[in-house]
Amino acid sequence: MRVVVGGGTGFVGRALTQLLRSRGHQVTHVSRQGGKDRISWEELSRTGLPLCDAVVNLAGENVLNPFRRWGDAFCKEVISSRVETTKTLAKAIVDAEQPPHAWVLVTGVGYYRPSPTAEYTEDSPGGNFDFFSRLVSSWETAALIPGSPARGVVVRSGVVLGQGGGAISQMLWPFRLGLGGPLGSGLQPFPWIHIRDLTGIVCHALENECLQGILNGVAPSSSATSNGTFAQEFAAALGRPALLPVPAWAVRAVFGAERAIMLLEGQKVLPKRTLESGYRFVFPDLPGALKDIVA
Ligand code: NDP
Repeated sequence: MRVVVGGGTGFVGRALTQLLRSRGHQVTHVSRQGGKDRISWEELSRTGLPLCDAVVNLAGENVLNPFRRWGDAFCKEVISSRVETTKTLAKAIVDAEQPPHAWVLVTGVGYYRPSPTAEYTEDSPGGNFDFFSRLVSSWETAALIPGSPARGVVVRSGVVLGQGGGAISQMLWPFRLGLGGPLGSGLQPFPWIHIRDLTGIVCHALENECLQGILNGVAPSSSATSNGTFAQEFAAALGRPALLPVPAWAVRAVFGAERAIMLLEGQKVLPKRTLESGYRFVFPDLPGALKDIVA
């Protein structure tokens, strides 16, 4: 299968590319940087989609970049790097003489309202209560192509855990130094997924011709994981203590109040349709996932 991946140079994209190539598929990235097996967004708009069987979009400015102040300019970049790239790929699919058969977008569980008790499946409502939920709504709406022969699949991902990027790379050193701990009360749910399962679900969506619609990209046991449990398990996997809670005010001071919601609140999300679709998780439980990552 020939697969075009927007944002394929990133943390998830590199792992997905490796998995797809190991399964005999060919991968072309759409990127802001030139390079081998890459086309630019401008080239995509100008000359259209290269001949391919499937398209995936993973592009997005890192929301939790602690070096970027949470203000209007950064918010616009966070939105446009997701919504505009998705629109560009959707338009390229519509305009293609030989359209691809599959179109997969990875968004986030920020679609569902944070709650310490509610449990959400793919059929639960959401998408219209705060910045992140509205972002996910416009991102997913940008991907819609009514009547297209390309099957549309949206994977709503939790926090992606893996080596060499994402949340783990931001937390590794404080935890290694014994300075890590729960954020705020630590009681908030922590929806997570191992990177091998997120890329596995995307690959499953590409290869299964009957699959379409929403799939939650979270580990089956993640609805029972709180931020505090995560901190304890991560510290245990590293053989370090996790004694120091990071107060909520400090998280808000670094990230800004609106963005800090992502860290101080969380959702209990179940991968109901993902499991029903036949996907088998490699890392359903947190200790096994963390052992693999810190090994
Ligand atoms: P990365 O931060 O690694 O970024 C992915 C790619 O997006 C980059 O390699 C870059 O490609 C492209 N990109 C970054 N900023 C911009 C921009 N301003 N305009 C256009 N393209 C840009 O993301 P991940 O791999 O961690 O995540 C992939 C997708 O999954 C993202 O959309 C993210 O929101 C979503 N997601 C990730 C989660 C996580 O925990 N990692 C959790 C939930 C959802 P290049 O430089 O080649 O142009």
